[in-house]
Amino acid sequence: MRRFLKYILIILSLALLLVVTIVATVLLQNVDPKQEEPNIQTYTFADTLANREYDLDSLRAIIGDNKGLPEGFEIAAAIAYSAYPQLKEVNIDMILTQSGAPMESTVDIWSLFGLKRNRQYLILLNDAQNTFFDPILLRSLPFDAQVGILAHELGHIAYYHKLNLFQFDKWGLGYLRSDEFRAIHERTTDLMPVYHGLGSQIYQYAYFVRKDSSCVAFYEKEKGFMNKYYMTDEELSEVVGQ
Ligand SMILES: [Zn+2]
Repeated sequence: MRRFLKYILIILSLALLLVVTIVATVLLQNVDPKQEEPNIQTYTFADTLANREYDLDSLRAIIGDNKGLPEGFEIAAAIAYSAYPQLKEVNIDMILTQSGAPMESTVDIWSLFGLKRNRQYLILLNDAQNTFFDPILLRSLPFDAQVGILAHELGHIAYYHKLNLFQFDKWGLGYLRSDEFRAIHERTTDLMPVYHGLGSQIYQYAYFVRKDSSCVAFYEKEKGFMNKYYMTDEELSEVVGQ
């Protein structure tokens, strides 16, 4: 019996050591919340993308067959994907949900433990009816604003894909625990569409959710949050010259 207890103690000690090592490894990671301009050739898009003909098959060939397109928003999503050539080999799905934040980019947790090329990223798009978020949900936005906000979400994925498992954990801790960390990350993620040729589209999104008559009441309630964590239309206007 005493021998048995001794084994249990050894196993518990090893488990504790493992947990301490993992926690220490996560905490020692140096993760900058700031998004950087990518060092790649990106496309330039027209200031207005709505009311044109698009061939979904041609777009699919550009973005890769590992991309999920949300029903009803296929073209806007495919254009946003096409702005990120560095994500061509990356598995990403966009899923309409009935709850949660209006938009959220995440990763399938289990896929974080495998090879990077097998990672599965998810962009969750709240499409619930009759909720507080109605005016700013994807279906309520004009086409160009849809492309702009999806390009913002893909900016998160481009950032996540540069992180290893421990860095991703450290990023998550920073995002949850520090307002400043979160604000720097979200505000510089608003620049990702700009860096990828969709500056006009993210500007149109920021303008619509603040100035369109359908969003004014929502904005009045949420402007403290929105203007702290996201770039305003005025700020984006200075960057994109609109
Ligand atoms: Zn974001």
